[in-house]
Amino acid sequence: MREIIYKSTRGESKEILSAEAIVAGIAGDGGLYVPHAFPRLEVTRELAALTYQELAARILRLYFTDFQAEEISAAVAKAYDRKFDHQDIAPLKTYNGIHFLELFHGPTLAFKDMALAILPHLLKAALKKTGKEREAVILTATSGDTGKAALEGFAGVEGTKIIVFFPEHGVSRVQKRQMVTQWGDNTYVIGIEGNFDDAQRGVKAMFTDEALRRALEAKGYVFSSANSINIGRLIPQIVYYYWAYLQLLGRGEIACGENVNIAVPTGNFGNILAAYYALQMGLPVNRLLCASNSNKVLFDFFATGIYDSNREFYVTMSPSMDILISSNLERLLYHACGEDTRQVKEWMAALQNRGHYRVTREVRENMRVFAGGYAGEEETSATIRNLFAETGYLIDPHTAVAYAVLQKYRRETKDGTPTVVAATASPYKFPGDVLGSIDPGYREKDEFTLFAKMGELLGEEIPKAVQSLQTRPVRHKTVCRKDDMRRVVENILQI
Ligand SMILES: *Cc1c(COP(=O)(O)O)cnc(C)c1O
Repeated sequence: MREIIYKSTRGESKEILSAEAIVAGIAGDGGLYVPHAFPRLEVTRELAALTYQELAARILRLYFTDFQAEEISAAVAKAYDRKFDHQDIAPLKTYNGIHFLELFHGPTLAFKDMALAILPHLLKAALKKTGKEREAVILTATSGDTGKAALEGFAGVEGTKIIVFFPEHGVSRVQKRQMVTQWGDNTYVIGIEGNFDDAQRGVKAMFTDEALRRALEAKGYVFSSANSINIGRLIPQIVYYYWAYLQLLGRGEIACGENVNIAVPTGNFGNILAAYYALQMGLPVNRLLCASNSNKVLFDFFATGIYDSNREFYVTMSPSMDILISSNLERLLYHACGEDTRQVKEWMAALQNRGHYRVTREVRENMRVFAGGYAGEEETSATIRNLFAETGYLIDPHTAVAYAVLQKYRRETKDGTPTVVAATASPYKFPGDVLGSIDPGYREKDEFTLFAKMGELLGEEIPKAVQSLQTRPVRHKTVCRKDDMRRVVENILQI
């Protein structure tokens, strides 16, 4: 098997193996780690017989070539176990002839669990491998969802601690409850009197504080992050695109080698980039539909070749896509411009300094497998309402954006290629907006009332993760001023 080496998209960091890249997260030059080549994996009927876990191990081994096969299998087994409430891990459901890949059966009911369930185990093995047998301290600021997914991923993982700061008054009631009831002796959840930006700034300041870093090292700790640019989060996301394809093959919905389209509700560009990586490995893909909400910076980029973050920011009912700077796009640019790191650096500098950059016609040509689309709030609501009326299937607002974009794409292009939609969150995660789309009367209701209502409408038991929210004890009660974040961390780690 060929060894895969990781390089920075900006070309000024040394080339390393995957364990080191997972520990580092971001490259020293500010770039993102990318594999020097794409391993191949042809779709076959044999592959279609694998379980999700077997397929995951197969794919991760191709990328993390410095790991032992047993290390990978062990990480996979710990990640994709009973904490997912479906034995397929990512079941594929078909409604109106469209295949919904449900990525929300993990503990936090959203797709970030797919990667954050395994990252802690990869990180732990990577630390050992790189000779840094230190305890990893994960520091995160969250506006809600990512922090909870990271907490669930790291809870109880030996050799790690996770400290999450959230804006005390800047998350929903359900999100707050999810976090303050977090289990695990190695988890710490702290509300701050400030907004998300304050929390983010405080965490960044700690990451770059040399004195603090030295104090940590003296105590046997190392700071690490769990954010979405870590290659240890990106690669596990490739798995479910193969999985979806192989399910379709196994069910006789497609022939071996037949192309599919994939529609992805996109924010930071991590999820859809994983689909692009799958395509580079040999997954038969015709188009990748990049779906945005009203924050349609990516739609404009694919339409014009100009990335322009200088624009109005909209708060929508698909908050995980309310993003104007999609960090993982840097990786696509790197691959599409012939790995010209000088060029990538220039674009990223322009983005930072002026808020915009323009790519050449050739680069656009190399990205033509992507089709952009967007859906506004009204369209998103109507999509939820109509699909439910037609099929009884309820989708969350993020998934609805992708489905709305897909319908428009199909009308405009007449492209009837079999299509997989990445369903990124459970409707239970956004009960007010989902039920409110069906009947505006629900918008005013308490979220806990709505969970029950949703279960009733769907004729099913509500997910365990939701059921236990009301009864689980509050374990985390610390609230601090935004200037005290560092002191809180020092207290926790006793440094
Ligand atoms: C994070 C998230 C997205 C966006 O995914 P990216 O990888 O950031 O593009 C979409 N939907 C949900 C529910 C999410 O949590």
